[in-house]
Formats: sequence, structure tokens, C-alpha cells
Amino acid sequence: VVKPHISLIVAAMAPELGIGANGKLPWRLKQEIKYFRDVTSHSGEGSINAVIMGRKTWESIPAKFRPLPNRLNVILSHSHTNEYRDGVLFYNSMDSILDAFQRDNYKFQKQDINKIFIIGGAQIYNAFVTDPRVDSLLLTNITFTGEASETPVMDTFLRWNLDEWKRLDSSRLKNLVGVEFTEGLIEEGAYEYEYTLWERK
Ligand code: NDP
Repeated sequence: VVKPHISLIVAAMAPELGIGANGKLPWRLKQEIKYFRDVTSHSGEGSINAVIMGRKTWESIPAKFRPLPNRLNVILSHSHTNEYRDGVLFYNSMDSILDAFQRDNYKFQKQDINKIFIIGGAQIYNAFVTDPRVDSLLLTNITFTGEASETPVMDTFLRWNLDEWKRLDSSRLKNLVGVEFTEGLIEEGAYEYEYTLWERK
């Protein structure tokens, strides 16, 4: 039995690794949204990917866009009881959901779980970046290129030590995600960004 690959996937702005402002994303990057959707949705025949998120990130998704389609959505809250309701899995701990997924023969509506993506927010990213069950980081590395006075103000940051990780090249990222994406720097409005993949040293 092959265990599903587990990644943290996040878009963060250098140098502080800012990821949020007022409970929302600090930017709107159309191509990045498409990358996130394509990468997290792409799975083999007869299988589905899971996206695991904290309760606040779930609440930050407009009601009409959730659950995220074509993915098994898992919402973590300490006050949840573990159950499937309204098309999503509510769970009260990362351990209980990962244990469930890694149990032999776990199926969701007759499908295997292909990959597991942990999609935020800060509390979840910061608590699980050091968890050995996490195989890789899918980091969209953003830089603001506009007027300094217009730099987005953020209140939520990754506390990640990337010294413990090594960046892999783009061919490894392609292999992992299995979808087309732009390699190298992308310019969109007052931002530049690049899709990167990291594994533990
Ligand atoms: P989170 O989305 O991490 O949610 C936090 C909540 O999740 C907690 O209050 C708790 O819910 C629950 N939770 C956290 N850890 C666990 C656990 N181990 N077991 C069970 N439940 C748990 O909130 P943050 O405020 O940290 O992050 C939200 C911000 O991040 C927003 O600004 C959002 O836009 C941003 N974001 C940015 C992304 C990016 O790529 N740039 C991606 C995703 C989010 P409860 O209180 O109910 O117990």
C-alpha cells in the first residue's frame, strides 16, 4: 500500500513570508489561483485528492466557492466531531484524519485518496511544517514589485525555517503535480512570483 504524498501548499510574500491580512489573502493573483486549483484537483483515474484546512481558512472562502470542487475537503476545528456532512469531512485533529487516510483500504465514495494537500492557514502551516509526515512544501514565492508605499500590509506570516529544506528543480515539481504550469518568474500586476517545490534536507 502506497501512502498518499502529503504537501503543504501556500503562496507567501518575501522576505517576511506574509500570507494573510484581515482573514483573507493579501492579493488576488488569477494565475496563482488556477495553479492551486489545477495542482490540488489533479489525481489519477478512480482517485481523489484531499485538501485539509483550518476552520478560519474554510470561513474565508466565499460560501458559493466551497466546498472546493473535485477535492475531498477536510475542515479542522477543535470543536468538531469527526463526521461527513454537507459534502465535507469535519475533523477535530490532524492525527485523526491522517490516520484515517493512511489506514489500509480507506476509500471516499469508492475512490482512493491520491494526494493530500494541507492548504492553510497560518496556524496549520506553522504547526505542521515540522511534522515528519509532511513530505514536501509547494511554495509560491511572491515579491511585490510596485511602489514601496503600496506594499500590502499583512498580519499573518509563516514561521518556517527553510534552512531545513532544500529547493528541488522544476522538473521535480512537474513530476509531482502532473499538470502544466509556467516555469520561472510570472508577472501579474504589481507582483512577481514563482512556483517552487521543497523537500527536507
Ligand atoms: P487557520 O485557517 O489555520 O484556522 C485556525 C483554526 O483551525 C483554529 O482556530 C482551530 O479551529 C483549527 N485548528 C488549527 N489547528 C488545529 C488542529 N491541530 N486540530 C484541530 N483544529 C485545528 O487560521 P489562521 O488565522 O491561522 O490563518 C488564516 C489566514 O491565512 C487568512 O488570512 C487566510 O487568508 C490565510 N491563508 C493564506 C494562504 C496562502 O496561501 N497565502 C492559504 C490559506 C490561508 P477552532 O478555533 O474552531 O478550534
